[in-house]
This record gives sequence, C-alpha cells and structure tokens, in this order.
Amino acid sequence: MANPPAHKELEFDEHTEDGYSKAFVDSCTEETPMRRGVLLHGLCPRCHGPMDFPVVSQANRGTRSKGKARTATVPLLCTCTRDHQGRPGGEHGCGAYWNIELS
Ligand SMILES: [Zn+2]
Ligand SMILES: [Zn+2]
Repeated sequence: MANPPAHKELEFDEHTEDGYSKAFVDSCTEETPMRRGVLLHGLCPRCHGPMDFPVVSQANRGTRSKGKARTATVPLLCTCTRDHQGRPGGEHGCGAYWNIELS
C-alpha cells in the first residue's frame, strides 16, 4: 500500500475542478453506515487532508420516484481540520468543493 499523500498547506480558496469528484471517490476508504445515511472517509482532492463527511440518505423520504434510478447529487466540501491561510473564522477545510453522485 502506498502512503497517503502529504497534506498541502494551500491558501484557502473556494474552488472546484472536474476531477475532484472522482479523486475523492477513489480515495474513500470506508463508508460507515449511520442511522440516516453514511459517513464517507476520504481525502480532500485539493489539499489531501483527511476528512469525514456525513451524507444523509434521501432515499426513503418523500414520494417514491417512478421508475427512475435513484441517484442523488450530494454537494461536498473539504472539511479538513489543518490550517489554511486566509480561511474565514469558523470554517473548515481549504475551500475545495465538489459533487458526488450517490445511488
Ligand atoms: Zn482540502
Ligand atoms: Zn487541508
């Protein structure tokens, strides 16, 4: 097993790129089932900080979809707890954000 990449101390920047979603999904090591969703464990695709992200499942809420594949687009953002210069007070992460598709 390769070592995880080192954390990059980039300046805080609200930023997304096409590859972030795939990079995050590829880095996910585990999904911990929660009462109402899953907890994803992965690495931020921008700063490589380890992050956990709770995803609340929408699947059982509301009306049933009619024959459509149940995919949900979930917005994620970096929640790494390391320092990033210029980060607004009370925020976490390096500012990276992206969407993943859950089925
Ligand atoms: Zn990050
Ligand atoms: Zn970071």
